[in-house]
Amino acid sequence: SAPPLKFRPLVLPPKLTNGDFNEFILDVIELVGAENVEIITSKDQIQDGTYMNPKHSHDPHHILEQDFFLASAIVAPRNVGDVQFIVRLANKISFPLWPISIGRNSGYGGAAPRVSGSIVVDMGKNLNKVLEVNVEGAYCLVEPGVTFHALYDYLVANNLQDKLWLDVPDLGGGSVLGNATERGVGYTPYGDHWMMHCGMEVVLPNGELLRTGMGALPDPKRPETMGMKPEDQPWNKAAHLFPYGFGPYVDGIFSQSNMGIVTKLGMWLMPNPGGYQSYLITLPKDDDLKQAVDIIRPLRLNMALQNVPTIRHILLDAAVLGNKASYSSKTEPLSDEDLNKIAEKLNLGRWNFYGALYGPERIRNALWETIKEAFSVMPGVEFYFPEDTPKNSVLRVRDKTMQGIPTYDELKWIDWLPNGAHLFFSPIAKVAGEDAMMQYRLTQRRCQEAGLDFIGTFTVGMREMHHIVCIVFNKKDLTQKKKVQWLIRTLIEDCAANGWGEYRTHLAVMDQIMGTYNWNNGSFLKFNEILKNAVDPNGIIAPGKSGVWPKSYSQIAWKL
Ligand code: ADP
Repeated sequence: SAPPLKFRPLVLPPKLTNGDFNEFILDVIELVGAENVEIITSKDQIQDGTYMNPKHSHDPHHILEQDFFLASAIVAPRNVGDVQFIVRLANKISFPLWPISIGRNSGYGGAAPRVSGSIVVDMGKNLNKVLEVNVEGAYCLVEPGVTFHALYDYLVANNLQDKLWLDVPDLGGGSVLGNATERGVGYTPYGDHWMMHCGMEVVLPNGELLRTGMGALPDPKRPETMGMKPEDQPWNKAAHLFPYGFGPYVDGIFSQSNMGIVTKLGMWLMPNPGGYQSYLITLPKDDDLKQAVDIIRPLRLNMALQNVPTIRHILLDAAVLGNKASYSSKTEPLSDEDLNKIAEKLNLGRWNFYGALYGPERIRNALWETIKEAFSVMPGVEFYFPEDTPKNSVLRVRDKTMQGIPTYDELKWIDWLPNGAHLFFSPIAKVAGEDAMMQYRLTQRRCQEAGLDFIGTFTVGMREMHHIVCIVFNKKDLTQKKKVQWLIRTLIEDCAANGWGEYRTHLAVMDQIMGTYNWNNGSFLKFNEILKNAVDPNGIIAPGKSGVWPKSYSQIAWKL
């Protein structure tokens, strides 16, 4: 008879037995060592953790049951060779793998896999080196585990900050690589992270190693590089200078996708601009959003607005400074008057525009004059520099963020409600007052129908805005969680009906959103499925990611 099974994970992937799992995981343990494998065998291991101490078994901001998306095990490869070995092993029995870098992915599903029972491949634990910072070329090359904070610390420790700045999102704990592949944003002039990436190294689903762009062209052989493993070989000199190389540009299929496991990423860094000034423009009225956005469009297009500025709703700033109970005893959504009172108390607008000026003083002054003049046509707007605001002001936090200094202050808005958790709803909007206003009104109304306050921000890209609606909920309140599910599903539907689509989303609604990107009989999804099945015939890498399912999974049965 067969020997007793050593491990019994709480959940197994579809069609696989406990025996398959044990065989697989024992091989993996032998490879990477027990210290790099955690098997989820007990409910006690399903702890939500904290932002600072995240767990990788599931999503801490669960909108469905806590264990709805659950890993069978978490495995941390020690090097690229381990990743290749694990991928090849997984192919033998079609074992699903879910790669993460840091695994925070806050508001979009955390580290959880879309298919329960998948093995979460923790790329960040051991592969966490800044491999290069090149001052002359103004770029870096990082492994998956390098956080924004770690890259910042590296620049500081190596006295490079006077030469190069990085771009950070609202929180410093995410990975540079994971955030770029998810097409996340930050707030300096280099805020579009995907735009600023240059050169990727990827383990393909068959275990082969690929370098994209100029990285596909070998660096000339030298005696000291002879015999090196491909992953250790020096990159082509232009690999992080010119993103496209020759032929089809394939980088895109490795973003928000399930086509490979990214092992290295080149990112452009911003030369220190030689001067910096952040500012806040407060807009007193709720419908000031409309005029402000129309003022912003030409300024952003012609780059008088140099960075990714944000137009933040009063409650986002208020929530950074205190929870709902500190402002009101209401449990229902706050009224217009309540918001006016909060704005007055905090000396902020109903909308607050945060931007920054980059360059020597003469340049900054010229730009500031232009920006001020443009906004001055609006009644009641006020202009602030950080020193004009209280010590704990949001402007003082944004002052750091917009110059690439990581912070954690924005974590506080998640505590707006007790047992606070959050979910992002992130539609794209034109930089046009009417569109912004319509999108705001619609999302605000639906939030209120769900019994929630509207908390949101518009981040202004070159020609569009990422409208980020921060759905904060009490994760111990099951009725409220049900309403949150209704809310996001309804928002997706409403927005699609208006021609608005999301740029990124939580695991639970990837299928629904992919379903809205359905122009011409869904040719986009069909093409992605063709690619997926060709590149990953056994469907091992992140099945279901972004609504793309391999052929071995029935779309209909798996769709959420
Ligand atoms: P963060 O670093 O912001 O915490 P994660 O590490 O959780 O983000 O990554 C977010 C998502 O990006 C993951 O769920 C996964 O889909 C994708 N991803 C992250 N790292 C990789 C990688 N190295 N290879 C392929 N996909 C990745």
